[in-house]
Amino acid sequence: MIVLKSKGEIAEMRKAGHIVACVHEALREMIRPGITTAELDSKAAEIIRSYDAIPAFLGYPHNGRNDFPANICASINEELVHGIPNRQRWLEAGDILSLDVGAVYHGWVGDAAWTYPVGEIDAESQRLLDATEGALWAGIAQAREGKRLSDISRAVETYVVGRGFAVVREYTGHGVGRKMHEDPQVLNYVPTGAGRGPLLRAGTTLAIEPMVNAGTWRTRTLSDGWTVITADGQRSAHFEHSIAIVDGQTEILTVV
Ligand code: MG
Repeated sequence: MIVLKSKGEIAEMRKAGHIVACVHEALREMIRPGITTAELDSKAAEIIRSYDAIPAFLGYPHNGRNDFPANICASINEELVHGIPNRQRWLEAGDILSLDVGAVYHGWVGDAAWTYPVGEIDAESQRLLDATEGALWAGIAQAREGKRLSDISRAVETYVVGRGFAVVREYTGHGVGRKMHEDPQVLNYVPTGAGRGPLLRAGTTLAIEPMVNAGTWRTRTLSDGWTVITADGQRSAHFEHSIAIVDGQTEILTVV
């Protein structure tokens, strides 16, 4: 069930989104060859806590079996999502780094991801980043009152496939609000024979997040139980914003 949010609730979500965006802004400045993903993780925690917020990914899903052990996800090159920040993992020039940041503020979640170049990157990696970011904006452009959920999915898929890349299928965007993952799932492709999906209404809040692979769409998970990599070892990119449909407009919540 899609939980619609009131304007007051969206105002709270805006604060959570702002904190997430501030973390991205700070981390972007720190990214350079030689820094470790653990240093980025520490900085993210420091900023989130300074706003009296909580890192949304830390300890997720809180079932005590293999809860996520860090504050943010840091995924390098062929790692697509859920990379665990590591004191032994130094960034190198030419890498691409996907940072996923979530914060909970007064019980409301903000969630945004971005893939950053580390120093100079090769032209094909840049093309992958451009295609994935472009797909995010194409998806957001469809997130309007009166559209259907599948309009977002189709826009993302069309943008990516038209540039010769593949959308990941096993991981998707999602509703966002009091919980990090709410209904609906926001697919980055349109399954064969699928209906048009629910109507998008005022008060809908979504995390739209294309994950795009240079090669096959298939993925696998490493033995740490978290890090997802591409099945063929080629690179992957991930761009995400949390958005709200409010007053007939699409508002991006994860902005500074
Ligand atoms: Mg997300």
